[in-house]
Amino acid sequence: MPSRDGFPALMVKLNEPLKPYTTFKVGGPASVFIPARSPDEVGRAVTFEANEKLPLFTLGGGSNILVSDRGFAGKVVHPLFKGICLVREDAESVTLEVNAGESWDDVVHYAVEKGWWGIENLSHIPGQAGAALVQNIGAYGQEVSEVVQSARVVEIATGNDRVLSAADCGFGYRRSIFNTTARGQLIIVGLTLRLAKQGGPQLAYPDVRAYFQKCETNQPSLGEIRQAIISIRDRKFPFPREEQGGNAGSFFKNLSLLETEYVALRDMIRRNFSPHELGRLEELRNRFPSADRIKIPTAFLIEICGLKGQRIGGAQVNETQPLVLLNMGGATAQDVLTLARHVRRTVYQRTGVTIAIEPELVGFSGEELADFNNL
Ligand SMILES: Cc1cc2nc3c(=O)[nH]c(=O)nc-3n(C[C@H](O)[C@H](O)[C@H](O)COP(=O)(O)OP(=O)(O)OC[C@H]3O[C@@H](n4cnc5c(N)ncnc54)[C@H](O)[C@@H]3O)c2cc1C
Repeated sequence: MPSRDGFPALMVKLNEPLKPYTTFKVGGPASVFIPARSPDEVGRAVTFEANEKLPLFTLGGGSNILVSDRGFAGKVVHPLFKGICLVREDAESVTLEVNAGESWDDVVHYAVEKGWWGIENLSHIPGQAGAALVQNIGAYGQEVSEVVQSARVVEIATGNDRVLSAADCGFGYRRSIFNTTARGQLIIVGLTLRLAKQGGPQLAYPDVRAYFQKCETNQPSLGEIRQAIISIRDRKFPFPREEQGGNAGSFFKNLSLLETEYVALRDMIRRNFSPHELGRLEELRNRFPSADRIKIPTAFLIEICGLKGQRIGGAQVNETQPLVLLNMGGATAQDVLTLARHVRRTVYQRTGVTIAIEPELVGFSGEELADFNNL
């Protein structure tokens, strides 16, 4: 039904359970929940007030959040609008405009079908296209920031929209202005991506290289790369399915260390673990060479601390990829948080490393967050 100003009325739901909207399948309700069917509705939703001014949370596909058992005492805006549009094409590239509510993996599927390069290694990452910019999704040697041209955003304070260039987005490893300096200030309603018509496969990542060595090919097609990534990922990152509990992908971030930090870690491993583990650390250091930072998989630290498979309530550290925490069925948010804290605390005590987490913690009190961060 249209509102008095001629626009369709906003859909506003009260006390909407958030659990079904998340891939972890845990968490309580949102006081106010507004599914937005267009960028214009996002603009109106941010300025909509029920009886009082409420904090706002933008919900995409819910694959990178942990919602508290009490839920979120505020307003949740959930972009629903989809669409991919070819807006420019030249001899080398195409530019696509994508709506925020589009499924990220459908964008990758579309590009691969069309024969456009640049995001094929980002296959099978759950969530919406808009949210892909928030933590600058990355996998198997590609990051979305490599192809982003711009983002269209709505300012939460005013409801006005504007366009940001890729440089304005401030991308870094699992980082952008959207989860740092401008966190909670902007809602992404659309993005443009520039993809290459001619490209070369990026097979440098060890798992991907090994996959194609087995198939005895080093010039796979785009479709073969997508299939390879899906099959590698499915072994490690259980794609959240209704009947299997849930997860939020990697709960912990990988390490990107300065030389001095690496030396401190090596000393701790020498002191607290066997020469075998020390040897594995040195090997990992050389496995992901990078000019300025040393990349060490956090999974290695979790594994040597004996945390694989550990369980608290209904939450468990995944055996095959210990960066992932699993809801084995019936887990509460408190189970997941307590397990995550146990992992962080144990790794800190035995290696001196503070591991950062990827998902946003939604609806937890200041006290709960302080307790979680107290190692
Ligand atoms: C099985 C699995 C595998 C995964 N693998 C990877 C991986 O390989 N690499 C990787 O980088 N990530 C991975 N993830 C994490 C996750 O899929 C991505 O971070 C994804 O981009 C989150 O999208 P979403 O729509 O689900 O966002 P949500 O979980 O809904 O939200 C995440 C954050 O983004 C904000 N947000 C959401 N939409 C918007 C918007 N339109 N504007 C502004 N802010 C917004 C939210 O407020 C929140 O802070 C994985 C997750 C799962 C469950």
